[in-house]
Amino acid sequence: MAERERYTEIREENAIRIDEIFGQNVFNDNVMQQRLPKKSYRELRHVIDEGRTLDPVTADVVAHAMKEWAIEKGATHFTHWFQPLTGITAEKHDAFISHEDEEGRVMTEFSGKELVRGEADASSFPSGGTRSTFEARGYTTWDCSSPAFIKESGCGKILCIPTAFNSYTGEALDRKTPLLRSMDALSEQAMRIVRLFGNTDAKKVISSVGPEQEYFLVDEDLYKKRPDLMYTGRTLFGAPAPRGQEMEDHYYGVIRERVGEFMRDLNTELWKLGVTAKTQHNEVAPAQHELAPIYETANIAADHNQLVMETMKRVAVHHGLRCLLHEKPYKGVNGSGKHNNWSINTDSGMNLLDPGETPNENIQFLLILSCIIKAVDVHADLLRQSAADVGNDHRLGANEAPPAIMSVFLGEQLEDVVLQLIETGEATSVKQGGVLKTGVSILPDVEKDATDRNRTSPFAFTGNKFEFRTVGSSDSIAAANTVLNAIVAEALCDAANELEAAEDFDMGVHDLIKKNLTEHQRIIFNGDGYSEAWIKEAKRRGLPNIPSMIEAAPALTTDKAISLFEKFGIFTKKELTSREEVVYETYAKSINIEALTMIDMASRQILPACIRYASSLAAGVKDMLSLDMDAATEKDILNRVQEEISKLKKALDVLEEDHAKAVTVADEKEKAFYYKDVIKKDMSVLRESADRLELMVDKRMWPLPTYGELMFEV
Ligand code: ADP
Ligand code: MG
Repeated sequence: MAERERYTEIREENAIRIDEIFGQNVFNDNVMQQRLPKKSYRELRHVIDEGRTLDPVTADVVAHAMKEWAIEKGATHFTHWFQPLTGITAEKHDAFISHEDEEGRVMTEFSGKELVRGEADASSFPSGGTRSTFEARGYTTWDCSSPAFIKESGCGKILCIPTAFNSYTGEALDRKTPLLRSMDALSEQAMRIVRLFGNTDAKKVISSVGPEQEYFLVDEDLYKKRPDLMYTGRTLFGAPAPRGQEMEDHYYGVIRERVGEFMRDLNTELWKLGVTAKTQHNEVAPAQHELAPIYETANIAADHNQLVMETMKRVAVHHGLRCLLHEKPYKGVNGSGKHNNWSINTDSGMNLLDPGETPNENIQFLLILSCIIKAVDVHADLLRQSAADVGNDHRLGANEAPPAIMSVFLGEQLEDVVLQLIETGEATSVKQGGVLKTGVSILPDVEKDATDRNRTSPFAFTGNKFEFRTVGSSDSIAAANTVLNAIVAEALCDAANELEAAEDFDMGVHDLIKKNLTEHQRIIFNGDGYSEAWIKEAKRRGLPNIPSMIEAAPALTTDKAISLFEKFGIFTKKELTSREEVVYETYAKSINIEALTMIDMASRQILPACIRYASSLAAGVKDMLSLDMDAATEKDILNRVQEEISKLKKALDVLEEDHAKAVTVADEKEKAFYYKDVIKKDMSVLRESADRLELMVDKRMWPLPTYGELMFEV
């Protein structure tokens, strides 16, 4: 299509009316009001808002309305949509048909029972070795707090019902269940605090999340020529391109046409699903981009983030592209993460992380802040673990953003207030000339947005929210938010216990803020989180520095973690043990796939190409000598190529031998460490050799698209 025509099409005929399409595929509150009898709507609303159980009669009414709505929209199937421990979503489609009636018409059926509960074979999903003690049977149960939606794909239109996934005996086998449990725990404890401060109208406290999603795009034809991208999502070989991100011209740069068309389609699909895709821009690395939605309830944000990742992958294919969500697709350029913006708000609309207008709100803010600081310090290991996945090992603790050491960034102004409180128990001045209007001499009014940005902190206060920057780009955000909610619930619970018993509330709050800040000051760090100096300083302060996913896993089952999670009914010890097992299994399996892919590519693509090149050089040398020419330079090149080929072959042999031993390691944890300590090292030696050869061999003979092509031909 001619350029001009194409733009006319985009601008005119296909112009998107965002107000018309937004949420059109969602069974949202609006649709429920229109389609449900008043009584059933009210009943369902109560269930959603207050977490009650749905009665079977209402369930039938809702199911019927949902089915009619979905069929009118062209849906042919329904599915319980859930999030097993694979990190992605699972679905099994059932058509809306049952038997024919007497006239041979097909009946459409969907009962309340089918809406509320489904069955799935639990033993086919990761369950962490506890599978044999679990009944193989697993159940999916409707989470009515996250709206049902219709997904449009090659399968047609499918009604998706967000569900939790549990074993027959009640163990959570998914990421949603613990997240929902942690939201309840946080709400209950935070309510105790706001009540103490005289708030009587709030009914619950909601954790809100806005995850910024980074991703790479790559041309599909090139992608298909890279077995490493296809099997592992990242490049296992590849010499650096002459140009990388050093010109700093990609971040916020003009979005290229092809990428723009992808983003336009992506937004349209997401808006239809009720996902508030808001911000889009080019990221630091070539071919890297970001999408950020507007924040919403943690549970819905987690569901929507899954939809964002899924939709990115699907829409990319329609544009002859592939979307890479891996944390480190390319060596030597920035990787991708997810900035998890988190805040806690009352249902009456007060953000508890917003430094308030009045002295009262201000004190409440400082108390909650001090509790969060305590929570992060006490459970730094757990927070680190919550963001661990295989790909993220390439970022955290590997000289890339953000560091593996957890710390809290407060900004200059707030840190100054905190230091004053620690030193004298009072804060009498605010930096940058702010005016105190506390009326309670000990606590200042804190100005909003007076903080500078800090890009190196894993957990940064940004005005009225915390930004947890450590989550991996491909990972579900559920685990991170489960841990955040849980650890803060615990700290708030401790505070509420103390303050409910205090004789003098004002004095009690004052003392507690000072105590929390003094005892946990070590976790506050405002400097450069990437520097060597911080690593040393953090060590001196006794902060954990956990470099890898499998070294982080034991944090799940420390006494401290078990007591935290059991206290608030978020995980049982059994669930935690199984999750730790899943970490080791997942890690070993992932690195195993990477190792096998490398062996395959090195043996069947790279080595043969190098040998072909060496033979062609040899033939050239031979020809030259037969003509009595001086072939010294050519011979020298040949020698160097040959030398490198033998290094490559040796590295390949070592990897193959060590890999053969891996299967003999029976214990899952031991096996995971074997992959990390032995196999990964072998892989890196092999890669170095292959990457050196890539820079020596005739480009026309190299069997793989280069870094330059992958990153610049989008
Ligand atoms: P930044 O200054 O870090 O670029 P933005 O204001 O653009 O932050 O927001 C980034 C993400 O944070 C968005 O997804 C946004 O919806 C979310 N966000 C903003 N305010 C809050 C809040 N109070 N709680 C949770 N998330 C929030
Ligand atoms: Mg960003």
